[in-house]
Amino acid sequence: MSRVPMSSTPRFRRVEGEATRTTKVPMSEKRSQPSFAQETSEGRKRMVGKHPCCVVCLARLAPGSDVDTHTHHYRHASSDDDKRCPLTTSSYQPEWMDVRHIRDEAREAAQRSAFMDRWQYHYLAMKSLAPSLTVRRLTLLVRIADVANLWSYPALVQHDLPYVLLALAGFIRDRDSSGEVCWVRFCFDGAVRDVSDLWREAAHVSRFFRMVYRPPIGTPFPTSRELVRFETVERTLGFTNQADPIASIEDSDEFDCALIRRDEKTDGGSMRVSI
Ligand SMILES: [Zn+2]
Repeated sequence: MSRVPMSSTPRFRRVEGEATRTTKVPMSEKRSQPSFAQETSEGRKRMVGKHPCCVVCLARLAPGSDVDTHTHHYRHASSDDDKRCPLTTSSYQPEWMDVRHIRDEAREAAQRSAFMDRWQYHYLAMKSLAPSLTVRRLTLLVRIADVANLWSYPALVQHDLPYVLLALAGFIRDRDSSGEVCWVRFCFDGAVRDVSDLWREAAHVSRFFRMVYRPPIGTPFPTSRELVRFETVERTLGFTNQADPIASIEDSDEFDCALIRRDEKTDGGSMRVSI
């Protein structure tokens, strides 16, 4: 494996125009009746044909009104969608995208190896969205992907992997631009129930969201009650073609130690991955 160059200035960056687009959604402290203010149509509501749908879970919305404030809102038509949708769920363990596949050793070896060859690019793409992400956490996510046989999906697309792994990461403790503690969580829109939904032919192009939360009070992880805003992340294509990604010697050693050397040991000395 060639040593990655060191530099204090990461050269990987999001291309202008592909940067994260932020949609601030005012959140009410009074959330007993989750609703979608009409004026935030760019944020929470999209039209599918003549029907308003939630921009995140894609479920049908129904009009409603608040008798106290005399305002009109949209809300999920089904209470089941309230429980499921990241914008309204009261659970700190919301539904996750499924990743499970029958193991295909040949495909796994090829696709995992392709990822390992360019892990620094994937890591930096992830870190640009979740700055507190560590190499240790990345290696744990790779292990989760191993167990779920992510690498065996026939249609897997390498440049989607930073986003898939972030979606698998769950809640990540981070800091906002002012240095205050916040939590972030990443998810695809409701069309992606299983990761393979991302790679269906002629599929609708799924959106990827970054949810930003205040620290939770009374629960281990945030619920929609702590949701401050959510952002649509434009997924960057071709980031693995950028030149010279930057990873520190320490990061490279930690990654090698956690995955590469362990793989060699697990396979009785034979290389499971080639880098
Ligand atoms: Zn929804």
